[in-house]
Amino acid sequence: MTSVKTGTSVTDRLKQGGAPAKPTNGHAQRASGLYATVIQQFNKAADLMKLDSNIRRILSTSTNEIIVHFPVRMDNGSIEVFTGYRVQHNNARGPFKGGLRYHPSVEIDEVRALAAWMTWKTAISDLPYGGAKGGIAFDPKGYSQAEIERITRRFVYALGDNVGPEYDIPAPDVNTNSQIMAWFLDTYLSTVAPHERQRCTHVVTGKPIVSGGSVGRDKATGQGAAYIIEEWAKDHHLPLSRATFTVQGFGNVGSWAARLLAAHESKLVAVEDHTGAIANSNGFDVEDLADYVRSNGGVRGYARGESIDHEGFLRTKTDIFIPAAMENQITGETAGLLDCKLVAEGANGPTDPEGDEILQKRGIHVIPDILCNSGGVIVSYFEWLQNKRSEFWDLDEVDGKLKKKIVGSYRRVRDTAKKHHTDWRTAAYIVALQALETVYKERGIFP
Ligand code: NAD
Repeated sequence: MTSVKTGTSVTDRLKQGGAPAKPTNGHAQRASGLYATVIQQFNKAADLMKLDSNIRRILSTSTNEIIVHFPVRMDNGSIEVFTGYRVQHNNARGPFKGGLRYHPSVEIDEVRALAAWMTWKTAISDLPYGGAKGGIAFDPKGYSQAEIERITRRFVYALGDNVGPEYDIPAPDVNTNSQIMAWFLDTYLSTVAPHERQRCTHVVTGKPIVSGGSVGRDKATGQGAAYIIEEWAKDHHLPLSRATFTVQGFGNVGSWAARLLAAHESKLVAVEDHTGAIANSNGFDVEDLADYVRSNGGVRGYARGESIDHEGFLRTKTDIFIPAAMENQITGETAGLLDCKLVAEGANGPTDPEGDEILQKRGIHVIPDILCNSGGVIVSYFEWLQNKRSEFWDLDEVDGKLKKKIVGSYRRVRDTAKKHHTDWRTAAYIVALQALETVYKERGIFP
């Protein structure tokens, strides 16, 4: 059974003299759903690299699992009770770090999986962080901006000292953005003593620039994916100016990846989001499509493309497919439909283990999520550093440092795959697990 704790309120925290609550450990976690995927991927790499069995036990369990239920007043005066989650998987290498998602599918198993992926991702990128993830189980599309603001603020208050600038640092994810991070920051700062506030702006990343955000954070995940695809294309002698690509999800990650690949003159030939799918074999004008999606909420109805169904979208012939929406899209049922050379995972967990096996058999290369979408957390780290040092870096500096870091990760994963004669997902896990194993071996286990 999974143990969970109820997060302390800020009032509780102040009563306790500001000490963080002692969270309950999540022992004997059931591996079902998405977390079962993580464990399967983890075991494959752990077996191959012969990971120490004690460290294996530690890393297959999250450190803390926080569930909070909190009431919020709606615009019509009624009260709704929401459920929020924060899973802190591991902080052996540094503070917990990971996004917040607002979606009806948010539940403990999903958040647990997403938190573990953050631990591997920060280790592959060699960032001084651990992994966490959180969210609230609701669909923000059914709520006003004022309601979303109150829901966000109450969530932050309910989390209390379970987050903090040197302890656990959230960021945007599905259906959350810089505005939500600004409300997060403001609420958190209101709960710390006035003279401490200036030292706490790095409690959250992905903030608007004037509230302490970093230039380049908005596009960072898409930019990182684009840098990775550039490297892969060079290694595989695929000129990007003649390449085609398809994107599932045209939100933050998908739309930026599309815009940045279009800048190489690659052609976006099909795109799908929650409203539908469209195709254009001559290639979409990505900037025009992005304007349309901003005004209309989705790709459906865009006049310069032909409407296609989900299967038609998956079957579209393309060089590169970028899943950048939700998890479990490439499965035993759908992997056989893809007609591409490369799957570059912008989303977290878009391919399940059965899907992975089919892609491998079919010779379709996969650049795994924990490498391909790591640009977001890398630039979040840059934002965190800028806040701590009271610095503002320009876009050239941010992009240059991102490119250097993510290309370094790409090469480490590529070379590890060669060395162990394995797929890139397993190689990425090996890179992460080796870094974590070293830390545990050096420090030992208390007491
Ligand atoms: P977003 O909310 O900005 O966009 C999500 C997109 O997915 C939207 O276009 C939506 O229409 C589409 N979508 C939702 N359900 C769909 C469905 N069933 N079929 C097709 N499309 C669907 O979210 P985002 O921040 O772009 O995140 C997308 C993915 O990338 C998630 O898996 C997230 O965890 C991952 N990710 C995001 C970041 C980041 O910095 N935002 C970083 C790393 C990984």
